[in-house]
Amino acid sequence: MHKFLTLNDLDAKGKRVLVRVDFNVPLDKKTNEIADDKRIRESLPTIKFLAERNAKVILCSHLGRPDGKVVDSLRMDKVALRLGQLLGRKAKKLNDCVGDEVKREIAGMNNGDVALLENLRFHPEEEANDENFSEQLAELADLYVNDAFGTCHRAHASTYGVAKHLRSAAGFLVEKELRVMGKAMENPDKPFIGILGGAKISDKIKVIENLLKKVDKLLIGGAMAFTFIKAEGKNVGASKVEDGQVDLAKKLLYNKKIVLPVDVVAANHFDANADSKIVDINDIPNGWLGLDIGPKTIENYKEILKNAKTVVWSGPLGVFEFEKFANGTKEIARFLTTLKATTIVGGGDTAAAAEKFGYAGKLTHVSTGGGASLEFFEGKKLPGIEALEESYKKFK
Ligand code: AMP
Repeated sequence: MHKFLTLNDLDAKGKRVLVRVDFNVPLDKKTNEIADDKRIRESLPTIKFLAERNAKVILCSHLGRPDGKVVDSLRMDKVALRLGQLLGRKAKKLNDCVGDEVKREIAGMNNGDVALLENLRFHPEEEANDENFSEQLAELADLYVNDAFGTCHRAHASTYGVAKHLRSAAGFLVEKELRVMGKAMENPDKPFIGILGGAKISDKIKVIENLLKKVDKLLIGGAMAFTFIKAEGKNVGASKVEDGQVDLAKKLLYNKKIVLPVDVVAANHFDANADSKIVDINDIPNGWLGLDIGPKTIENYKEILKNAKTVVWSGPLGVFEFEKFANGTKEIARFLTTLKATTIVGGGDTAAAAEKFGYAGKLTHVSTGGGASLEFFEGKKLPGIEALEESYKKFK
């Protein structure tokens, strides 16, 4: 189990608290406005808790990929504005994230004030986990809180280095993510069913291997199913296959926990309006490609899922972006909301699909971390969590 402090362990009153949040919100490609403020909303409980306890709340985050340079379109001003609207109080945006001017601004903060530092990744030292930069961040505060689950798989200055210098705690979001997903990976209620989909086996190979040790069944969909189906010696037509992974897929198939589609929705080309038909897995016509799991597969998967007590799902089961090929992902998401089970969705695309179809709020947990949740399912220790554990040993 993890051993680190949480917000309730901190005596934050009157203290300067540096809070790493994940405000890396998607921006509209045309207007550069915030396209979805979910990530800001997810950290509101932590921010409100600290402000109500009269801490000076100093938030920091990255936004996009400025690659160590100042990029005006990636400044945090609009994020601070939206945060202020959501909090119902002003969140002042500072012009940098380290340095004397920032220190002066912080010295002028009153208890309960909220400020947001400028984009951390304007400094190359952030991603380099530079020791000196970590110290400069630490100089701004008395305490450190990590609430950026989506960035916990990165050992950056603001997620890793800084925790060496300050008494540190997990924010409510990080705590919640670890509680729900940690239980599933360490001590799941059984039957435990995994569902994996998405584009590639190669991206998820470590997740497959780790989940196979823990689950009772592993249901496969998405494009990755076709590499397994090819490994079984079947014709997959023009479906997306990773030829380099077929041998590995063959080996994995010795594990009888893996369950594959028995039918698919095939298309004559990759397009939202392509001609489509439902075909048995043994009858994919040459030139046609499977873009969704078929109705018999959906029924099989429901039959396996209906008694589950824990379900972990990562990767869409078809090309859910196209209405014609969204049914498998949609129907399995809907079915999960009817179960008396802990249902966990991780990975950016799957979370987006659950959100799009309106089921996100009815699942037990939709992780805010794409890469972070995948690494968690791989059984890896996340550097951001490790840093909190080390800080706990040092500062208690
Ligand atoms: P990933 O990032 O690995 O989770 O992959 C997600 C992407 O896989 C989504 O954009 C889906 O459209 C795509 N995908 C799912 N099923 C298929 C399929 N059968 N053929 C091609 N792409 C697929």
